[in-house]
Amino acid sequence: MPSYVDPSKCDGCKGGDKTACMYICPNDLMVLNVETMLAYNQEPDACWECYSCVKICPQGGIFVRGYDDFVPMGGQVHPMRSSDSIMWTVKFRNGNMKRFKFPIRTTAEGAANAYGADKGANLDDECLLLEADLPTPK
Ligand code: SF4
Ligand code: SF4
Repeated sequence: MPSYVDPSKCDGCKGGDKTACMYICPNDLMVLNVETMLAYNQEPDACWECYSCVKICPQGGIFVRGYDDFVPMGGQVHPMRSSDSIMWTVKFRNGNMKRFKFPIRTTAEGAANAYGADKGANLDDECLLLEADLPTPK
């Protein structure tokens, strides 16, 4: 189920060139209506429910309608981001609530190296990254 913006919470990221949700969406789904200064998901069918926009919104104004098997009707899952962790609040439809806190990664933006430079990855090698460390089959 796609993300949606609560118009009572969105402030259009205070008129920045590119809003936080537009910046983070891997599928470029979030857009800003510059007349109302409200963001919205322009193509809900294409939403991956990755929660990136939910987590980054500084106003806590984006929600995801969960799938019934994961979040039964009436339930809700919502993350609250702080500088070092995310607190996930899970509300069950019977009113029960649970909270889980997980640390966020500390890799500086743009510093992640998927190819493991410290391992001297050779991108021309047909082996997978860690295969070079495995003993050669006899
Ligand atoms: S990140 Fe949040 S506050 Fe900013 S434009 Fe998107 S929905 Fe609105
Ligand atoms: S949940 Fe993910 S894919 Fe869907 S609008 Fe938000 S950032 Fe984009």
